[in-house]
Amino acid sequence: MMRKLLAAALLGLASGAVEEVTTQSQFQKILADNMAVVVDFYSQTCGPCIMMAPIFKEVAKEYDGRVKFIKVDVQRAYVGVQIRSMPTFHFYLQGKVENQFSGGDENGLRQMSRALAQKAEAMDVEVSLGALEAFYQKHDPSKLEKVDEIYEKYPAYKLVQILKKKYGVAPEFTKKTPPKKAATGGGKEEEKGVDIKKMDLDDLKAEVYRREMAAEEKEIELFKKKNQRRREKMTSAAAPTKIAILGGGPAGVTAAIYAARAGLKPVVVAPPVGGQLMSKGVNVENYPGIPEATGPDILKMMKRQAMKFSATFEEEMVLSVDLKAKPFVITTNSSSFTAHAIVLATGADSRWLGVPGEDDFKGGGVSSCATCDGFLFSAKPVVVVGGGDTAMEDALVLARTSSFVTLIHRRDSFRASKVLADAVLSHPKITVMWNSVVKEFKGGETNMLDKVIVESTTDPTNTTEIPAEGAFVAIGHIPNTDIVKGQLDMNDAGYLVTRGGSTACSTSGVFAAGDVADWVYRQAVTSAGSGSQAALDAERWLSETGVGLGGDAEEEDSEECHPEDYSSWTMKQIKKTFKEMGIDPAAECRGCNEKSQFIEVLCKHGGAP
Ligand SMILES: Cc1cc2nc3c(=O)[nH]c(=O)nc-3n(C[C@H](O)[C@H](O)[C@H](O)COP(=O)(O)OP(=O)(O)OC[C@H]3O[C@@H](n4cnc5c(N)ncnc54)[C@H](O)[C@@H]3O)c2cc1C
Repeated sequence: MMRKLLAAALLGLASGAVEEVTTQSQFQKILADNMAVVVDFYSQTCGPCIMMAPIFKEVAKEYDGRVKFIKVDVQRAYVGVQIRSMPTFHFYLQGKVENQFSGGDENGLRQMSRALAQKAEAMDVEVSLGALEAFYQKHDPSKLEKVDEIYEKYPAYKLVQILKKKYGVAPEFTKKTPPKKAATGGGKEEEKGVDIKKMDLDDLKAEVYRREMAAEEKEIELFKKKNQRRREKMTSAAAPTKIAILGGGPAGVTAAIYAARAGLKPVVVAPPVGGQLMSKGVNVENYPGIPEATGPDILKMMKRQAMKFSATFEEEMVLSVDLKAKPFVITTNSSSFTAHAIVLATGADSRWLGVPGEDDFKGGGVSSCATCDGFLFSAKPVVVVGGGDTAMEDALVLARTSSFVTLIHRRDSFRASKVLADAVLSHPKITVMWNSVVKEFKGGETNMLDKVIVESTTDPTNTTEIPAEGAFVAIGHIPNTDIVKGQLDMNDAGYLVTRGGSTACSTSGVFAAGDVADWVYRQAVTSAGSGSQAALDAERWLSETGVGLGGDAEEEDSEECHPEDYSSWTMKQIKKTFKEMGIDPAAECRGCNEKSQFIEVLCKHGGAP
């Protein structure tokens, strides 16, 4: 097997192979030696990277001899290009980035490769001095005197472009590289079925990933159907829910996992998109056990786990909460329902400056979380904006890894604590720009931040351009506590205040988790941790008070199995589920032939878990 894979790999090298680049000098040499280069910045553990690897190889074969295709494993090699999410594809023409994108976009890869190849082809021409002389002889003899100079001054393709524009015709030229017939029409249409014996390692990994994704999609589809039924039951039943969790970030979903596993049948109320991790433009690298994944992917995994334990998701915004009523009343955009206990996990939103470029470069250099994203700017100059404790902490954290920190503050003194302010002021790597505000964030060729334009508050004509690859806006957060304003104890900034050593809020039966009650740590993992605490506190409170025990209409209901939920499943999938559930279909379904008969057996056991 290994020998076959090796043979396949060597065969690949012979034509249109993708070269693995491991050093900066190798990378620079390839850029210098090749007119057009496409780079796949990938990592071994990223799913979309695995998916794209065989496609990249296929496109490389298609443009063999015309465009150079290389790949860089960003976790093992640094070639001088800062990459913030994987996979990222860069398209170089004459050593300069022409185009780039991140993600598993096959069409994008094909289109941008085609455009690059076309440009490179247009530039791949030769004009002889004789041909140029003949051209001027015919079209503009006055230039004959300077023909040598002109010939030296421009590359051939430019000369062809300029003369064609000026005279309507171009001098005679030839192609440097003889045209090659495109290898295939672009892959997709040629796909014939999958023969895993003929696959190399990249193809095998992609096939496994594809199959896992397909199985996951089916599972999610099933969860959604079950969720829909639970939602309908919940809204039509007059009985209160034991526990409602408001917010669907790491805190809320972790609380849901714990509450669901404790049999409390939690209802999570949160819009489908929202929360801080959803807006993170680069990978999360500090969540334990998940070395790298996007924020939305982490949340997707958490949600899937909660749904597996039958937590119900109500994808709505909470408009109001009545904590005087018992049970509590929760009103959303579309309905109203009651709950005996509540976990508030609505998070906090970052305050932003609202200046040009800020939105454009979020995820491309502009961030509001130095602890989260600071490491990406190791040995690079960065900017911090703000004058409070958070800005001081951010500047000090960044000064450990970045080359230089410029702290921009709109006043002439900090409102931060003296200890922190002194540490900043005496730090050799931190410079403070007093009485200054950010006017604009600007980027360079690669669409990443590369400078911050700063304006003096005392003299608006006085602007300074600060080189910076990272900029951290540290001007505070707004906790999402409006829905319980006046009903629960909060601090001056609007964060929920909990009773020491627990997550309990000032009203009995209400608990807080995550950033909505945390102005200090503000991390996904601390939020998830407090989500678990809130669920455990709520569970204990329900047990101790006896509230909601035995009264629910759905109390003894087990989830019904609906055969139609499994109609799109393959027999392979059904058999795999039997195996996981310890069911012996041969014993239980003698003489069964039809898929529906096997589904019946599955339903007899309550359906897939
Ligand atoms: C740019 C950025 C990058 C970050 N990177 C990292 C990182 O790399 N690692 C890390 O550990 N942390 C990171 N963080 C911090 C992390 O995202 C937060 O600490 C964490 O998401 C907080 O979780 P939470 O559940 O408390 O709140 P959020 O994640 O903010 O979730 C709040 C939830 O409540 C919902 N909600 C709000 N109002 C309502 C309402 N009225 N009704 C219903 N639902 C509502 C929202 O839609 C959302 O679902 C980052 C934060 C930012 C801003």
